[in-house]
Amino acid sequence: MSVRVGIGYDLHRLEAGRKLIVGGIELPFDKGPMGHSDGDVVAHAMVDALLGAAGLGDIGQHFPDTDPKWKGANSLIFLEHTRRLLDEKGFAIEHVDAIVILERPKLGPHFPRMKDVLAKSLGVPPEKIHLKAKTNEGVDAVGRGEAIASHIVATLMKR
Ligand code: MG
Repeated sequence: MSVRVGIGYDLHRLEAGRKLIVGGIELPFDKGPMGHSDGDVVAHAMVDALLGAAGLGDIGQHFPDTDPKWKGANSLIFLEHTRRLLDEKGFAIEHVDAIVILERPKLGPHFPRMKDVLAKSLGVPPEKIHLKAKTNEGVDAVGRGEAIASHIVATLMKR
């Protein structure tokens, strides 16, 4: 058995009239992330963390934003595909630890549902996914409510 760790990061601008999709679920709010897909920063950072740990490149290589196939895509599809790539290489997901940075709305109350949805896409129990919410204390673009960001560390076991 060997242990592999990967890091992922993502940020999307928030614009009026877009759905706020975070961690695979839609939250009621008047703004949402711009993006070729649904702009889910948690799913995107998670894919990069998992691919990084497995040494399998990055999200842009596997799901190019120039491909019309991914326009408006539900980003959970990216997680499901990543799970299959990990399976093929003999990697098992041990733990995923995430920080989501958003000024408003409050994310904590939605974490149980997010964990369930993310865990289902990855084929792991919800206990293997840990979510933490931060604001940016009113500082910079995230703090002004102009963007949402996520940092994620994933730990894999290689069989
Ligand atoms: Mg992204």
